[in-house]
Amino acid sequence: MSCMGCYHTHDAGAGISKSFFSDYLKKSFPESHIAGCLSNGEIYEGHLTDPETVITAWVFDSAQIKVKLYPLELDKERETAGHIMEDSQGDNLKGVELITVKKDEYYHRVLNGLERLDERVMVFGGASMGHDSIHDDGFSYTESGDVCRHGVIAVFYYGADLHIELQKSLGWQPLGKELTVTEIKGKILTGIDNKSATEIYRHYLGVDLDENFYKNVIEFPLMLEREGIELMREPFNPQKNGGIALVSDLFEGEKVRIAYGDPENIVAETDKACQGMRNFSPEAIMLYSCTARKSFWSYFVNKEMEPFQLLAGTSGFFSGGEVMRSGKRIFEHNITLVAVGFREGACVNPPAEVHVDKEMLHGQLSILQRIATFARATTRELEAANRKLKEYAITDELTKVFNRRELERRLVETLHLAVVNGNDASFIMLDIDYFKSVNDNYGHSTGDNVLRDVSEILREHAAICSTEYGDASVGRYGGEEFVIVLPGVNAEAAYNLAEGIRSDIENHLFTGSIHLTASIGITSVNERDRGNYDAMAISKRVDAALYEAKNSGRNCIRVD
Ligand code: GH3
Ligand code: MG
Ligand code: MG
Repeated sequence: MSCMGCYHTHDAGAGISKSFFSDYLKKSFPESHIAGCLSNGEIYEGHLTDPETVITAWVFDSAQIKVKLYPLELDKERETAGHIMEDSQGDNLKGVELITVKKDEYYHRVLNGLERLDERVMVFGGASMGHDSIHDDGFSYTESGDVCRHGVIAVFYYGADLHIELQKSLGWQPLGKELTVTEIKGKILTGIDNKSATEIYRHYLGVDLDENFYKNVIEFPLMLEREGIELMREPFNPQKNGGIALVSDLFEGEKVRIAYGDPENIVAETDKACQGMRNFSPEAIMLYSCTARKSFWSYFVNKEMEPFQLLAGTSGFFSGGEVMRSGKRIFEHNITLVAVGFREGACVNPPAEVHVDKEMLHGQLSILQRIATFARATTRELEAANRKLKEYAITDELTKVFNRRELERRLVETLHLAVVNGNDASFIMLDIDYFKSVNDNYGHSTGDNVLRDVSEILREHAAICSTEYGDASVGRYGGEEFVIVLPGVNAEAAYNLAEGIRSDIENHLFTGSIHLTASIGITSVNERDRGNYDAMAISKRVDAALYEAKNSGRNCIRVD
């Protein structure tokens, strides 16, 4: 049983390929299954052979192959996934390779649909992309000889003795500050931090919106983290309205950062992937690499593929989006080198260790490496400074609990979520009784110590409460007044918490053997607030409750 993968470069070849594949290949090798696509560069024996046609034959001892082509249509992506799932039945399915030709479709919906596959089934692949990535649409073909300009080919690999290993190398590093995706229309990224996407690239990288845009930004993708996995999103085709067409999915609200290729880091990641592949002891390797890596490495591109060839025969192609399963999830990657190892039978002695040749880092790449290192060091310093600044901006200097501005922000946020989701939430306001007399009798610095001690008591109670409910926030509202914001906490639980605090303060011996008490007001979200979240009303209610506690003789709790 054999399988053939064919990758080639020129779109003009589509017509030729039809007769070539159906008439020649299929007739010469009637037992074989064929799948392939137009690519942005072909990988043959661990080398780029651009522009050529590469035909790879895998001969399996006992594994069984099935190749099938599925239509892909906008808003019917889940149906495509459903059809692939139906064909994924049978014992010993070890892997599903996906070769895609996509346009405006939401390919991630297909991938999401395939997550129902048993976690042990490896899913991997790449998207067809022509040599001139912007203008050449991809196409793919199967043994039927039909050239498909829109769809997904799935190659199913079955075999009790078949083993598949997935490894990847990325190595890009984030640059500058975190940005938020504020608007996506279809697959067009129109807003980052409420600015147009092209404006962001002009601002940070000085890239103009002209015909060279893609060439200038290809090595500077957007980087994000989704469920602990680093993903890249390549800016592809700029639009007149300032948007940028993306190759793969990105969602509003996701945090992204512009990233750059750090040669040393890329080499380290590729070395790690090679090591993982070596431990697997592969008999054949397939590589799906990103077009951007070809552009990044230029004539060093073979350096990161050669080591794989030393482990086993290595072929593949440069794609417009690489697919790799990580645990249950199946993500589409950009800028990533995905390596797929195949083996039939037990793992024999692993081959000798292989490494990427690091000599290249000292030649021409040296300048790039120094600048990359400089950018990384500067970015880290900037991040550390930003973290500090952010902390200062939300912290009360004396007591180190939140300041009033942050408290108010949290109050609004908690109230909003409680009203929208129909959850509980409570708010406590506490004021130390006759605090002025502490200052008058013991001095201002003793007063300061008391404020710190009270903050500590509140923090301890809030921490206990947080383990049971949502994250409670303690802050100093001003002077000797404190507020605790309690998401998820109902009126009864808030009262119990307040009572614990009240009695702790009453029984606490403050520095200078001072005894103190505090008055507390509480309000909770209830029917009055449903459908109408008014932070002002909450503030007034909790303040009124506190005022009542003061008027009722202090050292007590009142609820509004
Ligand atoms: P009540 O029981 O009615 O709350 O009486 P009180 O004395 O606690 O209230 P009042 O509002 O009259 O006094 C609050 C005092 O808190 C006045 C002010 O000097 C003091 N204060 C405000 N901020 C600070 C601070 O940062 N450090 C110190 N030591 N005292 C502060
Ligand atoms: Mg007071
Ligand atoms: Mg006061």
